[in-house]
Amino acid sequence: MKKILFIATGGTIASAKTENGLTPAITSEELLNAVPQVKNLCAVDTVQPYSLDSTNMCWKQWIHVAEIIRDSYAKYDGFVIAHGTDTMAYTAAALSYMVQNSAKPVVLTGSQKSIYNRDTDARNNLYRAFVYAVSDGAWGVQLVFDNKVILGTRARKTRTRSFNAFSSIDYPETAVFRDTRLVTFLRRPMDQPPVRFYERLEPAVFVLRLVPGMRADIIPLLAPHYRALVLESFGVGGLPCYGDESFYNAVRDWVESGRVIVMTTQVPHEGSDMEVYQVGHRAKRELGLIEAYSMTSEAVVTKLMWILGQTDDSAEIRRLFQTPVQKDQIF
Ligand code: ASP
Repeated sequence: MKKILFIATGGTIASAKTENGLTPAITSEELLNAVPQVKNLCAVDTVQPYSLDSTNMCWKQWIHVAEIIRDSYAKYDGFVIAHGTDTMAYTAAALSYMVQNSAKPVVLTGSQKSIYNRDTDARNNLYRAFVYAVSDGAWGVQLVFDNKVILGTRARKTRTRSFNAFSSIDYPETAVFRDTRLVTFLRRPMDQPPVRFYERLEPAVFVLRLVPGMRADIIPLLAPHYRALVLESFGVGGLPCYGDESFYNAVRDWVESGRVIVMTTQVPHEGSDMEVYQVGHRAKRELGLIEAYSMTSEAVVTKLMWILGQTDDSAEIRRLFQTPVQKDQIF
């Protein structure tokens, strides 16, 4: 029987009602006891490093969870993490960069309703997370939700209330459940190098969503606090020009100060391609902007945090950003 480590961190799945709204209160053991069939699938040990609404989780917890996985990696065949849905896509992306080439699955799940609700999605999601984790084709960091298995760098929360809360952005799902049958589409890549763990993240990454008419003088105000700026531009990507060169100059000064800019798009699907229009072409050619193409903003932000945790060198930052961490994948 396979051995799985269950890491509970809080979220709606573990929440109970209070006068002031839902808050995590249910322990990892109680979560498991609510899905007794899991015991027929695998042997489970549990740890509960947190009991947090995932709104309150950030890079500090991502590092700690990666350390828990690293320290117990040899002892288990896989890991299931119960997590709030609000920032689960960030944690999934961050873990994808911090635990690379893992042949053992690291599976995040959660739910839209507490496990103690009568009409909950929690039991379905938790059970399926274990089913995927013990399956032979399972690998890498994945998110299991509402019968879908989504690659950690491709997941995004796209619905706030429906059970169908997560989507795989511009990438096929790793697997799906048809009733209880798991159908796997993306199997573990062949000839993977050994698993590699990273312990450092640099959180000084800011995302600026452009709004028509926005003033560029916000950019130098961010410089003392951030090393990387992700510009969520319009369409396939461009820098606005409202009768002067203020955006162009602000971006040039940012890059010349040794900081990084990644251009992405606020359009939910199909990514950036800055060379299509003059508004993007010149900025990309002359200012040395890095382009996110079809990566999600969650993946862009966490990949930058991971890269900046490794190096200060501009050429190396660019190289790492443009190199997929997983063989044969596009992130
Ligand atoms: N606010 C909750 C959280 O992210 C939402 C959820 O888990 O669905 O922890």
